[in-house]
Amino acid sequence: MPASFADLTLSPRLQQTLRELGYDQPTPIQSAAIPLVLAGRDLLAGAQTGTGKTAAFVLPILQLLMAQQAEPAAFRPIRALVLVPTRELAVQVHESVLRYGKETGLTCALVYGGVSIAAQVEALKSGVDLLIATPGRLLDHLRQGALSLANLTHLVFDEADRMLDMGFMDEITALLKQIPAERQTLLFSATCDDNLYALSKILLRDPALIEVAPRNTTAAEVEQRVYAVDGDRKLALVEHLLKEKGYAPALIFSRTRQGADQLAQRLGKGGINALALHGDLSQSARENVLLEFRAGTLQALVATDVAARGLDISDLNYVINLEFPYQPEDYVHRIGRTGRAGNKGLAITLLSPDDAPQLEKVEAVLDTRLPQQWFPGFEPDLTRFDPAPRRSSKGAQKQKARKQALSGNKGGKGKR
Ligand code: AMP
Repeated sequence: MPASFADLTLSPRLQQTLRELGYDQPTPIQSAAIPLVLAGRDLLAGAQTGTGKTAAFVLPILQLLMAQQAEPAAFRPIRALVLVPTRELAVQVHESVLRYGKETGLTCALVYGGVSIAAQVEALKSGVDLLIATPGRLLDHLRQGALSLANLTHLVFDEADRMLDMGFMDEITALLKQIPAERQTLLFSATCDDNLYALSKILLRDPALIEVAPRNTTAAEVEQRVYAVDGDRKLALVEHLLKEKGYAPALIFSRTRQGADQLAQRLGKGGINALALHGDLSQSARENVLLEFRAGTLQALVATDVAARGLDISDLNYVINLEFPYQPEDYVHRIGRTGRAGNKGLAITLLSPDDAPQLEKVEAVLDTRLPQQWFPGFEPDLTRFDPAPRRSSKGAQKQKARKQALSGNKGGKGKR
């Protein structure tokens, strides 16, 4: 593996910026992707947030754009497009491009929904080399004639799996009609399923495949714990984990917006500085919540999956799942928020009887079993910890085995 950014044939200008940022050496995804992108290859890359994947596509694209003949600013057509599923990720990628590209003289703009379109149209008029966009708002701009993608040479899908989960396939299909077929396309995704594979077939030409963590597996440095607890004691257990165990600051996931609000309120009453982050909040309220969390003034951020997608929050040691997500792949995304940059992370999931089917789905995706424990003082009432109705006798046997294992677990540490 190349030991330095110079080995990856990145330009001296970009190398200087990376030195200033304190990036000593490339991460594995950067070592793998940068030479391939510079060589013009299409890419299908399996990489989670936190692996340095943003720089893995931004750096070589900036270099390729610099090498192309640049028009005077006002006449510059958009040459590179990064599509992302959420506003939050759009903002983060934009920040990264500004950071990495500050010495390049290239221009970058951002379009996403939920805010006024007029200011975005204005920004586009001054000439943009690289555009970061969510699919829906980008289509709005195209329909209004505010921008053209006719000169695009580089197309990136960041967190493509989430784009599909969020139902953006129609928008993607419409966008592709306005993008030249002759282009370089990079597809980044944390997980891979049949839909993603089908999308890759439409988008990519003879792609190079790279994968920095085995597909659908969780980061190795994350310790995963599952606490079996009665549903009506979950909020109390979260409060206890934050207050008494000192598991803070924590990113806490709730499947529902109401659940996120409820928990944030409960924690607030218990003297814990906590805020909820979900789609009912305005864009500016969401950005303020994120700012507070990043600044370290919050002990807990309670988020829904969509709102938390792609958050680049560094130095995060604790992720707590109020319950398993509906989509098992989201579990991988959630716990990928911790254990970054070599830090050991702790991901705790609370399991009540209703969650048993979700646990099985997650275990199937991970292809591993997640040991259950009891938290002393919060042991579940086993008469209520009854299995949910099982679809198959195999599932019923597994559930029986799980219940037996739980019954034998006296010290709160017993693993199945
Ligand atoms: P990403 O996976 O793109 O969200 O990046 C995760 C974090 O790693 C970001 O905060 C980056 O600034 C940081 N990062 C990316 N590449 C490097 C590197 N080569 N050395 C140190 N930090 C990096």
